[in-house]
Amino acid sequence: MRRALELAEDAVAEQGEVPVGCVFVNDNNVEIASAANETNEAMCATRHAELVAIDGALKHSAARGQPLDWTRCALYVTCEPCIMCASALSQLGIAKCYFGCRNDKFGGCGSILSLHEGNFDIVEGLREAEAVDLFRRFYDRENSRTLGSDAHGDKRTRRRTAARDSGVDGAT
Ligand SMILES: [Zn+2]
Repeated sequence: MRRALELAEDAVAEQGEVPVGCVFVNDNNVEIASAANETNEAMCATRHAELVAIDGALKHSAARGQPLDWTRCALYVTCEPCIMCASALSQLGIAKCYFGCRNDKFGGCGSILSLHEGNFDIVEGLREAEAVDLFRRFYDRENSRTLGSDAHGDKRTRRRTAARDSGVDGAT
């Protein structure tokens, strides 16, 4: 999960992506593929970290000429897979998914739908606080960017008003 968090952090820092990272491991806990969100970079709404990593894992197994046994793979992902990704993971038949924080709007592993049930095990809350913190920092940055100069303007206005109220403004 540490690696998944690093990938999420890099994605937001370098590409301004929504900070989600993930790593697939085999049953020896060896990494098979890893990825972060690429929706902005690819300008494609389906390039979630999980789907990018699935592509990577398939390429890896094709290059080795060995089909991948998904039933022996587990996924570590910083946020609960969305409905689209949880459905893909169910169809592949992965063994287990560890995730950090819940995805209250689109979660497919318990929050909105429970697509994992009968398909793969989940363990939630792994390094949850760090995953939440990445989202918080991302959305704080996005909000301040969206508000732009108006937000600063408001602050200056408030400061001037406060200064006037305290009588400081009268001296200038
Ligand atoms: Zn997804």
